[in-house]
Amino acid sequence: MIPHAHGGRLVDRTAGMAERARRASEHRDLPKVRPAVDQLYDAEKIGIGAYSPLEGFMGSAELASVLKSGRLPNDLPWTIPILFPVPTGPGGGGSADLSTGDEVAIVDASDRPLALLAIEERFRIDRSAIARATYGTEDAKHPNVADLLAAGDEAWAGRVTLLRRLDPPGGRPEPTPVETRAEFHRRGWKTVAAYQCRNPPHTAHEYIQRLTLEREDVDGLFVHPVVGRLKKGDYRPEVILEAYEALVRHYYPPSRVMMSPLGITMRYGGPKAALFLAIVRKNYGCGAYIVGRDQAGVGQYYDPYACHRIFDEYDIGVLPLRYDESFFCRRCGWMASQKTCPHPASFRAETSQSRIREALAKGESLPAEILRPEVAEILGRPGVILTA
Ligand SMILES: [Zn+2]
Repeated sequence: MIPHAHGGRLVDRTAGMAERARRASEHRDLPKVRPAVDQLYDAEKIGIGAYSPLEGFMGSAELASVLKSGRLPNDLPWTIPILFPVPTGPGGGGSADLSTGDEVAIVDASDRPLALLAIEERFRIDRSAIARATYGTEDAKHPNVADLLAAGDEAWAGRVTLLRRLDPPGGRPEPTPVETRAEFHRRGWKTVAAYQCRNPPHTAHEYIQRLTLEREDVDGLFVHPVVGRLKKGDYRPEVILEAYEALVRHYYPPSRVMMSPLGITMRYGGPKAALFLAIVRKNYGCGAYIVGRDQAGVGQYYDPYACHRIFDEYDIGVLPLRYDESFFCRRCGWMASQKTCPHPASFRAETSQSRIREALAKGESLPAEILRPEVAEILGRPGVILTA
């Protein structure tokens, strides 16, 4: 069954047409604030219901509850704080004075209003405590901890009204949860398995997608790559999307696979981020969720299978599809995992992203056991990885 949104009701914080026209004339007079790009993505996702039941940025009570128990005050599982740090740099405008009762226009880097924020609370945040509870570390080398420490130590809470969509990442349309649910329904899919990723597909990814498509309790696969804010060393979003399009075009029955980008900032919170990403996909209409090894991990911060176990600790009404690390075994002559292959690791083809990048950078060709040639061709082009 296509699940109800998290909390039971899909949030819609988009301004209607009449409302938008009225607001357009009014928000010219509102104080403008230009947050980090992370908050632009979050404001958009709140507006379209991807973060249901959240209707805005969290306040102190919600934050305390999420940090303490991984749940909202009404006991609904929610493991990642969604905060709006008060902008401190240029573009923060007169934010020093703004507090409860004020309304601000959230603008993007080119000063275009994206959303309105009705400030309901202004509160201090303990960034170290947030880092420890969410990411399990205060190490400033952790990318999300670094972001947190770079932000101010105050946040605004309040409901969001979305005025428009952001430009789609990678130039591909990014459907809303209402739209993906309608499309799943049109296709007659009842149980849709979401696949989280942020890299182009190699054969180990393809293997667990195929295992998922073979299940009798799965009707369709929704490939939903996170392509939000970019950092040096990332593939460009259009490259990830193009690589997946090639895989779907050449190797999957098109009637069983759907793809869309998801513009959010990646939270590398290991298990807590994996649960959050599954909740988001539930809002898009997915009743099953694929969890590979070390999902949403970075560096050595997380036990690679903690992201599996967290689905036993919290019931979010989504079927977790948990897979061990998979690989191509030269002795088996097949894709396998420890569950199906008895051979030593020396028989395994190395499929790590870093190995693939290294080979492609040197112009080496990669065997089809690691990368489909149609995907390798795309990844072998110059400029696919951000260098600055
Ligand atoms: Zn083997």
